[in-house]
Amino acid sequence: MENLKIDKTEVIELNIALKEPISISLGTVHLAENIIIKIHADNGLVGIGEASPEINIVGETQSAEFEIAKLLAAGLKGKDPLAIEDRLRDLDRTIQGNYTIKSAFDMALYDLLAKKASLPLYQLLGGGNTREIYTDMTVYLGSPERMAEQALEYKKAGFPTIKVKLGTSEEEDIERIRAIRAAIGNEIPLRIDANQGWDTVTAIKILKALAPFNIDHCEEPIPHWNNTDLRRVRDNSPIPIMADESVFDHRDAFRLASMGACDYFNIKFAKSGGIHNAIKINAIAEAAGIKTQVGCMSESRYALTALSHFVAAKNNVIYFDIDSSLSHAEDPVTGGIQYKGKGKWELPQVPGIGGDFDPEFLEKMKKTII
Ligand SMILES: [Mg+2]
Repeated sequence: MENLKIDKTEVIELNIALKEPISISLGTVHLAENIIIKIHADNGLVGIGEASPEINIVGETQSAEFEIAKLLAAGLKGKDPLAIEDRLRDLDRTIQGNYTIKSAFDMALYDLLAKKASLPLYQLLGGGNTREIYTDMTVYLGSPERMAEQALEYKKAGFPTIKVKLGTSEEEDIERIRAIRAAIGNEIPLRIDANQGWDTVTAIKILKALAPFNIDHCEEPIPHWNNTDLRRVRDNSPIPIMADESVFDHRDAFRLASMGACDYFNIKFAKSGGIHNAIKINAIAEAAGIKTQVGCMSESRYALTALSHFVAAKNNVIYFDIDSSLSHAEDPVTGGIQYKGKGKWELPQVPGIGGDFDPEFLEKMKKTII
């Protein structure tokens, strides 16, 4: 067998304009400020990864990640890119935490491995690409009238489910859901996400009040560190509870599952550190009888393609929140998942993750090679 070595790594900033600023209870995003990692093996194969740091959730920024990526890349030079377990250990030994930038390296290593195996990533992960992947579409925070308008627009566009950002106050949040239901009717399921915006008592009150509105589940109702009270909310809520910001990696998943603190996990590569840990989270969930959702920060279609491969390979993932690129005003990706309308994504049938970035789009971006 041929032994590969990592020859060099490209670190590239990726700035993508949004159609409009996006608000959740934790803050507002005006621009997708992501990082691309390209790991070059000495046989010419290139593995590509992308990460999208959400400062309010993961505590990482694009500029910090750019610097940290140089350290991480230096630690991988000359080593075997196919030994993913060992390479991820190298990353963890170089710097604690910083899961979002590590997820770009993890994604690049998996892309390289799948290219070396001449398999689409979903096949490498044991999937058959027989699952249909329909994303929900997110209505971000705004006035009840504005949010109802957007929900109606997404209903008309054929999305099967609409996700609604909440998390300001009891009066406002209940009014938002009332206005949305008045605009779109009761049939399409809603998902809600408070992004830690409520306290425990308020969360229980709001969730009880929202019981009649056909809601699949509620993400992260209270502050992420309060696992004990998350269980209290779950015990008292008629709406199932999904852990998002409180479950970054497999260790969080094990703790929350052991506590019976939630009904579902929301898996995001930006929190887990990538595909390797996402597989572990999903396995812990499966063992605990917990179904999972996949979600995103502000990734382009490239990282969403990697996420869709994961979905294709893991039947325990039943909810798909794969909509970030639909809020972007620009699409820098070549290949990758293709949007078929009405929420449907289709996977590419080529080795690896199956996408790249338009070189012309990247020309104006900051870049370094380690
Ligand atoms: Mg969420």
